[in-house]
Amino acid sequence: MTCEETKAHMKAYLADKMPARELEAFLEHIRSCPACYEELETNYIIERVLDILNDKAKEEYDFREQLQDRMEEQAEWLTKRRVYRPAYFAVVTAFVLMLIVGILELQGIHLLSLFGLE
Ligand SMILES: [Zn+2]
Repeated sequence: MTCEETKAHMKAYLADKMPARELEAFLEHIRSCPACYEELETNYIIERVLDILNDKAKEEYDFREQLQDRMEEQAEWLTKRRVYRPAYFAVVTAFVLMLIVGILELQGIHLLSLFGLE
């Protein structure tokens, strides 16, 4: 393989899309030609750096999405809390009052009659 041919195959090599027969000739040339090796090395490093940057950008995007989801869930939770909490306390309070009245009744204290309601 000549330098020209090697350069023409570099993209395919870096993309891992090279037939075995060409790969052999390509590697043979790369090993024996410092100029082509250097070019390959440079292109390889650029590709890896771009991969890393892409991964990082994707990760960052995922984290941003996670944060948005989290904030949405919290907002929903706060809305539910605002709606249900007063109702919950009203039910608990009513239950406790009924319990107290019931206990006093059992002990012969007629709370309602104390207030003239019976
Ligand atoms: Zn060469």
